[in-house]
Amino acid sequence: MPEAPKEQLKATYYSVAESNKKTLEFIEDLTKKADDVQKRVLAEILSRNAHVEYLKRHGLNGNIDRETFKKIIPVITYEDIQPDINRIAIGDKSHIFCSQPISEFLTSSGTSGGERKLMPTIDEELERRSFLYSLLMPVMSQFVPGLDQGKGMYLLFIKSESKTPGGLVARPVLTSYYKSSHFKERPYDPYTNYTSPNETILCSDSYQSMYSQMLCGLCQNNEVLRVGAVFASGFIRAIRFLEKHWSLLCNDIRTGTLNSLITDPSAREAVMKILKPDLELADFIEQECSRQSWQGIINRLWPNTKYVDVIVTGTMSQYIPILDYYSNGLPLVCTMYASSECYFGVNLNPLCKPSEVSYTLIPTMAYFEFLPVHKNNGKTNSVPIPKSLNEKEQKELVDLVDVKLGQDYELVVTTYAGLYRYRVGDVLRVARFKNSAPQFKFICRKNVVLSIDSDKTDEVELQNAVKNAVSHLMPFDALLTEYTSYADTTTIPGHYVLYWELSVNGSTPVPPSVFEDCCLTVEESLNSVYRQGRVSDKSVGPLEIKIVEAGTFDKLMDYAISLGASINQYKTPRCVKFAPIVELLNSWAVSSYFSPKCPKWTPGHKQWMNID
Ligand code: AMP
Repeated sequence: MPEAPKEQLKATYYSVAESNKKTLEFIEDLTKKADDVQKRVLAEILSRNAHVEYLKRHGLNGNIDRETFKKIIPVITYEDIQPDINRIAIGDKSHIFCSQPISEFLTSSGTSGGERKLMPTIDEELERRSFLYSLLMPVMSQFVPGLDQGKGMYLLFIKSESKTPGGLVARPVLTSYYKSSHFKERPYDPYTNYTSPNETILCSDSYQSMYSQMLCGLCQNNEVLRVGAVFASGFIRAIRFLEKHWSLLCNDIRTGTLNSLITDPSAREAVMKILKPDLELADFIEQECSRQSWQGIINRLWPNTKYVDVIVTGTMSQYIPILDYYSNGLPLVCTMYASSECYFGVNLNPLCKPSEVSYTLIPTMAYFEFLPVHKNNGKTNSVPIPKSLNEKEQKELVDLVDVKLGQDYELVVTTYAGLYRYRVGDVLRVARFKNSAPQFKFICRKNVVLSIDSDKTDEVELQNAVKNAVSHLMPFDALLTEYTSYADTTTIPGHYVLYWELSVNGSTPVPPSVFEDCCLTVEESLNSVYRQGRVSDKSVGPLEIKIVEAGTFDKLMDYAISLGASINQYKTPRCVKFAPIVELLNSWAVSSYFSPKCPKWTPGHKQWMNID
């Protein structure tokens, strides 16, 4: 994740080393006083917002202490505040959650009712996000010196935005950040020196943005010391883009002219400041890209790269082997943990193995609480989030410094923008402590079964989508007897695969076009983040249905039992990840069908479509 400039940069006598030292001392201090800081943060949030409708409604009566807050304010999920959020969306400007004006909505990749969740935010939060970014490079520079001597090649993109009926902009948090002055007008800083000019990042056409950024990255290849994207999936997409388009890119470098497909005037102008005819570089790139193997392509094209900066924790861990292949095992660095609701924390040991990454929550970002997650047979429960907690469960929440080593917790936040005791939906495990601040391993997002990029599909959504699709089989007297699913990331972009076992009683075989209709119906039924990934971001490929031979799911059960599953408790998993099981399923597949076109998707929420 790229970082924002530091305040100190404004000083004339700026020394990178001195500024880094100060930041590290600050982190040290924060982690020592984590509990005091948390207490202060909560008091600050509550006193500023003492008169907001939500807190008055619950009867907090201006109290700012932890005990009263915990006794009176309920632990909630998005659905509990959705009616209030809708009021803001349609233009209610009263102080519902926060005494400061809502500046925009951040659209989360988590969904509710098939649509992105809308997180109200305030201007001031941009500063808090910038602050978290500013911690990253001082931490990194302790382990990799000299990063101020070159550039970072980060492939960063904006996504489409919409307006709510009340006129507030709704867009993803990173789009909001890249379009803000915090990013666009950052003063020169050796740590925010990127190969991509701002204009190429801010280009709304994803092809032109990728092409321009890749071209600029190639032109400055020897200066690049680190490469990255936000999530691993995005970085892999960039490498696949290069695989497809390197000869066009080489041509531009050879001639010093920019492909006419790049029509965005600002992006063109910015690229032309960097692009110069360079025969030698063009020959070199051509030679490397036309080799049969792309193993180590990152090290070959950007020979001074010290690490790959991408998130590979959580569902992104599925991309580790392919990243290792392209980078010849360069360190994969996960620097931070963040969300639309709040930026949470940083990885203080960034060169550790991906499986050992833990994030230190920064106590100034929000007030954090932790709901213990009870494990089933040593595994974290995958049951859906219950609607509301009972009194006993509400009392189980603990503060940041009181979590127990090895225990899993669901993260609950109270933010400056006005979320109070809000369940983020992530499960974290306490891996160790830095002074009194715990460091958490990211375990999972509750109840997500399938994910390729930022899409997150839960079991209920999958079940409904399959139910809608099987109606196409009825005229053929064919029934779906069992199914499971798999996020196949061996294709780029990755795609969802459904394995279907059918019982066919009719005499007419089901034509391929009907299975294709089934694929499309599943896609049409999935949430808007999935459909946006298919239509706009092209981060997810066409959904595939593989028909497996009769008896497959019985064999799958036998296999699971042979591995120790209990015969009484065995349930067909709705999603499989274990490679041998996927191989078995593939070996029993008799036919396969893909979605013939993209599902429907338009920016904005479906419920706003009829409102002017
Ligand atoms: P969004 O609200 O769309 O910004 O998505 C935020 C979610 O992305 C978080 O709640 C996590 O589930 C996931 N996420 C963010 N950062 C990380 C990380 N470093 N490792 C694993 N998952 C992450």
